Amino acid sequence: MDTFLLRPPKTTRRDFLKIAGASLALLGLSQTLTPKVVKALESTSGKPAVIWLEGQDCAGCTESFLNSQEPLAVSLLLDTISLRYHETAMAASGYHSEEALEATIAEGGYILVIEGSIPLAEDGLYCTVGGKTFRDIVHDAAENAAAIIPVGSCAAYGGIPAAGPTDAVGYLFRGTKKHHYYDDVTGDTPVINLPTCPLHPERLVAVIVHYLTFGTVPPLDDFNRPLAFYGTLQHENCERRGHFEAGRFVTDWGDPDQQGWCLYLKGCRGPWSYQDCWKRLWNNRTSYCIASNAPCVGCSEPEFYETFSPLYERRFDVELPGIGRVNIDKVMATIAGVTAAGVGIDMLISRMKESGKES
Ligand code: SF4
Ligand code: SF4
Repeated sequence: MDTFLLRPPKTTRRDFLKIAGASLALLGLSQTLTPKVVKALESTSGKPAVIWLEGQDCAGCTESFLNSQEPLAVSLLLDTISLRYHETAMAASGYHSEEALEATIAEGGYILVIEGSIPLAEDGLYCTVGGKTFRDIVHDAAENAAAIIPVGSCAAYGGIPAAGPTDAVGYLFRGTKKHHYYDDVTGDTPVINLPTCPLHPERLVAVIVHYLTFGTVPPLDDFNRPLAFYGTLQHENCERRGHFEAGRFVTDWGDPDQQGWCLYLKGCRGPWSYQDCWKRLWNNRTSYCIASNAPCVGCSEPEFYETFSPLYERRFDVELPGIGRVNIDKVMATIAGVTAAGVGIDMLISRMKESGKES
């Protein structure tokens, strides 16, 4: 049964080559593997099945994925694999769509993509689809899945809905802590979290390509994120880092002299945010938050949204990775003299730590 509205042009070998090249680069793997990836993509055309569930979400991850101008995202979904169920993209509705879902679950061996958080409060009644709680839909779909990919911050850790009253969780995590609700159906099934708000489409394509080619998932960190995409800290790679070091911070959005300065005092969470947005960029590699003069809000992290809120306000007591806890007000109080003396802020923080003066 063809349940889908969207039908792009058939994927060509040239498209496969682009998908292979981009995915290998994204995963940090050698381009010499390109023929192997292309062969895997061509031979798996039409398979394996993918179920894409949506719970407490805004469909932003779906939008992000389908709006990708590169042929790789949509072509991969609709021509290389068999997308059996996707509430936003499929034409079918009602009983037909639910039948497609049930048939695919009964078949087993599919990739399960989850978008949106899962409300556990009140027995899951805050989100129901077709008369069934999303909590239970995820439970049933996870049991026979070959791999589970929660996309976006909500499905990974609870995200924005976790700030509300529904006990919204990700598939494995409630914020930074594992909740174990799905342990009975997860078993050894790999779970690959792809947070950010919304999903970056290239990261999902690369994970699927890796799975189709090697039958495995790339190495993950403690929050089940692929290290290839989440192994670097924004702050350490930021194009504004020089201004941070020199103590030049944006305090007035309207001051042209502050253009390009560090956004820490405007609430940047880059010092806590592990991702590759700084080199991956967004919107078909056009730009990303900091390059667009907006602070990183840390949407790649399990602390997003509630622990990091209010967004766009600086934090006072901060735990800087590799440095320790510092009181940013103390740093700011002395920064003018320090920068005049040509000493970087990191050195100042280290000195405060060494001398035991930090809060
Ligand atoms: S605080 Fe933000 S804007 Fe400033 S250097 Fe770090 S990541 Fe870049
Ligand atoms: S730069 Fe920060 S806020 Fe922007 S998408 Fe990446 S992690 Fe999210």
